[in-house]
Amino acid sequence: MPPTATSSASQKLSEPLGIFGGTFDPVHFGHLRLAEESIGHLGLGAVRWIPAGQPPHRGRPQVTAGQRLAMVAQATAGNDRFTVDASEVEAPVPSYTVNTLERLRRELGAEQSLVLLVGADAFAGLASWHRWSDIFALAHVAVSHRPGFPVEIGSLPPALATAFGARRLSDIGRLKASPAGAIVTFAMTQLAISATQIRKLLANDLSARYLLPDAVLDYIQTHSLYRNS
Ligand code: ATP
Repeated sequence: MPPTATSSASQKLSEPLGIFGGTFDPVHFGHLRLAEESIGHLGLGAVRWIPAGQPPHRGRPQVTAGQRLAMVAQATAGNDRFTVDASEVEAPVPSYTVNTLERLRRELGAEQSLVLLVGADAFAGLASWHRWSDIFALAHVAVSHRPGFPVEIGSLPPALATAFGARRLSDIGRLKASPAGAIVTFAMTQLAISATQIRKLLANDLSARYLLPDAVLDYIQTHSLYRNS
């Protein structure tokens, strides 16, 4: 099991800390490569994975929050730059990113550079998130390319396009010079894998092997998950 956020991840880092929230229903290699490649591309000291408890932007996940957390723990085990934060899973209220970042600020202080990691599809919907414009006072935002989702000003809703134009930083090395406020994009290995696709395969009794770690697939099989989606 990776360390939890109450151990090593609570220590302040000299490098920026990546924050990676998601439903992870289930976690797959697209998520893992995003987190892994963000460390190299963005110069992060670590990535903190934060599975959502009750995701506000989508229907109820098909498995319990505890099961999604356990799968993320399995997938990230053995990578000492990854930590898993169980706080949102245990929370009784919906997980809004802005509240999560406020919690992290209280924990880590005003100086720590925080980088919220999002795929291009999630970024395109950012302007619908609760108090979305407050996010930039709390963290930088790093957008990874994802097959089928271009990151272009012209394809974003107007308010987000304006924020993107004003905050875009091309020198990624400057992410550690300030705690929050910039938007960067980075190209990761393009993997057209989605949790939706995996759930469909499993519901149809088809193989999802090589789309996600074997340990996660074993967990899914042991607990008979995703059989009737
Ligand atoms: P679903 O298919 O159920 O919507 P998902 O595969 O998109 O799920 P999420 O847990 O919703 O997974 O995504 C968490 C984050 O990971 C989001 O920011 C999303 O954009 C990003 N992400 C997911 N899959 C990929 C991928 N294959 N490549 C790049 N980013 C990804």
